[in-house]
Amino acid sequence: KALYDYLIVGSGLFGSVFAHEAYKAGKRCLVIEKRAHIGGNIYCEEINGINVHKYGAHIFHTDNDKTWEYVNQLVKFNRYTNSPIANYKGKLYNLPFNMNTFYQLWGVRTPQEAMDKINEQRNEFAHIIKPKNLEEQALKLCGKDIYERLIKGYTEKQWGRAATELPTFIINRIPFRLTFDNNYFNDPYQGIPIGGYNKLISALLEGIEVKTNTDFLKHRTEFSSIAKKILYTGCIDEYFDHRFGNLEYRSLRFEHICIDDTANYQGNAVVNYCEREIPYTRIIEHKHFEFGTQPFTVITREYPDSFETGKEPYYPINDNKNNLLFKSYQELANQQTQTLFGGRLAQYTYADMDDTITAALELWRNLGEK
Ligand code: FAD
Repeated sequence: KALYDYLIVGSGLFGSVFAHEAYKAGKRCLVIEKRAHIGGNIYCEEINGINVHKYGAHIFHTDNDKTWEYVNQLVKFNRYTNSPIANYKGKLYNLPFNMNTFYQLWGVRTPQEAMDKINEQRNEFAHIIKPKNLEEQALKLCGKDIYERLIKGYTEKQWGRAATELPTFIINRIPFRLTFDNNYFNDPYQGIPIGGYNKLISALLEGIEVKTNTDFLKHRTEFSSIAKKILYTGCIDEYFDHRFGNLEYRSLRFEHICIDDTANYQGNAVVNYCEREIPYTRIIEHKHFEFGTQPFTVITREYPDSFETGKEPYYPINDNKNNLLFKSYQELANQQTQTLFGGRLAQYTYADMDDTITAALELWRNLGEK
């Protein structure tokens, strides 16, 4: 007889929200996690009171009232607003592209002057009718100055390829904001959980049995028999032993540095480095996410990296080849009766945290459990 109603494989946001709902409905749940800690990629490692975003900077933002309400019942959020800075050859620019950026680029002071300048820059590339690669696409959309200073090097580092070899679909449009507004997101709600993301995960998993350092795929038979149903949030190709081949990802490498004698290293949580010659894409100064006042600081340099076994799969490469491969795995997944598949790794998709929560709630609701 099954000991549990649900075995949840993976304690990331998807697994934790699902477990929370199942537990609230009186189901017997066990969460297993192959890492040494819970939380998946939103986990923070606390270093001397500073919450270090160990798997990349995470800023919660949403336009969904229900999702915002849902997370606020669990934790309170601070008023952090993402307003990244771009550094190109020592000169600083505001992001996203807005009147501050245009002033910094060209000295233009009004929206009309900015639009005239953008149009002048674009007109140089009006002869490009059907862009063949990302470089042509970006030049057509924004002209040379923005492309060369703020897009080219950053994007090439991100993808590890020259912009002339990258597909156009990576940049479909480039939004220009004709106000002096540095808020990166358009969503009405944003912030960081007060006390960090671990508080959110702990609140979700409160009362639920969790086993860390436990890899489902290494003990598949044993775990499959202890629960009536399984929610699997790991890599879908791993679940099926890569039988059709490996899904491709882009990875990241993080260099975390504690600086004992500096209270404020860069004055902002996120500074992008846009030159190709600098190997990292961003420096994150974690204390600024939570308005930290410590006399020391922790920074992280983020390096884009190729992906191979043993490295973390961060960004799925959703080109035609990989999407087709994913479809074959998805067909197998649909035939499973005991196992449900959810989360970014099982769905081979990039999803922001709010969409991850919405998807987990929807999966739970659709099961129609009482
Ligand atoms: P994960 O967090 O990856 O959780 C899956 C868990 O399953 C992991 O803990 C893994 O160890 C475990 N697991 C896998 N296989 C097994 C197995 N065989 N046995 C046991 N356990 C297993 N979203 C935002 O809204 N704002 C942001 O600013 C933002 N920044 C991001 C930055 C980066 C670099 C990345 C990659 C993503 C970012 N996101 C952001 C998205 C956010 O990280 C995801 O929405 C969220 O973490 C997805 O949760 P998940 O549970 O699907 O996946």
